[in-house]
Amino acid sequence: QCVVHCPVGALRERDDTETVFSALSDPTKEVVFQIAPAVRAAWGESLGLSPEQATEKRLAAAVRALGVKHVFDTTFSADLTILEESSEFVERLSHPESSKLPQFTSCCPGWVRFVRTEYPELAGHLSTAKSPQQMFGAIAKSYYAQKLGKSAKDIFCVSVMPCVAKKYEAATPEVSDVADQDVDVVLTTRELDRMLRAMQINVAALPEEDFDSPLGRGSGAGVIFGVTGGVMEAALRTAYWKLTGSNPPADAFQDIRGQKPWREASFSIGETTLRLAVASGLGSARALMDALRAGQVSYDFVEVMACPGGCSGGGGQPIHDGEDHAAQRGQRLYALDQESPIRFSHENPTIQTLYQEYLGHPLSETAHHLLHTDQRKWTL
Ligand code: SF4
Repeated sequence: QCVVHCPVGALRERDDTETVFSALSDPTKEVVFQIAPAVRAAWGESLGLSPEQATEKRLAAAVRALGVKHVFDTTFSADLTILEESSEFVERLSHPESSKLPQFTSCCPGWVRFVRTEYPELAGHLSTAKSPQQMFGAIAKSYYAQKLGKSAKDIFCVSVMPCVAKKYEAATPEVSDVADQDVDVVLTTRELDRMLRAMQINVAALPEEDFDSPLGRGSGAGVIFGVTGGVMEAALRTAYWKLTGSNPPADAFQDIRGQKPWREASFSIGETTLRLAVASGLGSARALMDALRAGQVSYDFVEVMACPGGCSGGGGQPIHDGEDHAAQRGQRLYALDQESPIRFSHENPTIQTLYQEYLGHPLSETAHHLLHTDQRKWTL
């Protein structure tokens, strides 16, 4: 099957469901699942579920019905990414003479590869923060493994992603620090749906369940990672807090939302005025990068997602011929953010505990070792 919308179009979707089924039947493995924010907005579409039935809690129950004991939420590590990436941004802002501004987001492997191959002289602008998928794997195989009394090799980390490019990101040797691979297998939303169908699980009849603890709790800011502009907005909420010592209104940066492929905004935080750009789709990314390289535009922070509409419209999501569901799914994620009792990544209590117990503080030595990477050295 050809990969639709995949920004690395040379990739074909490799079916990894059998590998996951065999890990689940291996008693020596602790199979740990993480589920990306955008998956919750789309997983029920090809299973015939209504949006009211296809809740994130029923998704957790469905994955548990496959026999998975540890069902976690990548929204947790999206919050972790925000702590690291916004700290890096504030650091770069405070040393503009020696820093590479604008800072580029780094959570989309399609975009990272695009910068590395098409604009290598600008690759130093990428945040060194790993993506939420990779941060989750690194924490699952270190901090969480220790909590279980296990070692990294006992943990088999599976991620469910809206994305085909995440398969090669997980397989990039230079991105993993704890084990051979921080993430062992990446399933797309479509593959997860296939597994649920193969096991004949009557998903609609499952009662809702919570994600597991401690890596199963995320903020609304983490949820909007799945929509174009969401990473920028989440990072600004925490950067504001870092720069001023107090929270902004949670929706203070909503002017950056929308589906326009390349959009700009500026916001004042204290004495600082930030110039921002968001692009989705590699065509608009190319236009933005050409303008940046030619000195026609100037920004402090740039978010790019390779898929039009961001991960909501990712190449691993259910396909409906001739229909684009990215915007509609994105609206579901904004609604979940609004309903969330925690709207700021830095207020996620699990993240606070993780720093207290294990990482120290954002950009600490341990955080650098586990959560950052130099994309310029990637060989895949
Ligand atoms: Fe993957 Fe999301 Fe990037 Fe698309 S936008 S390539 S789904 S990370």
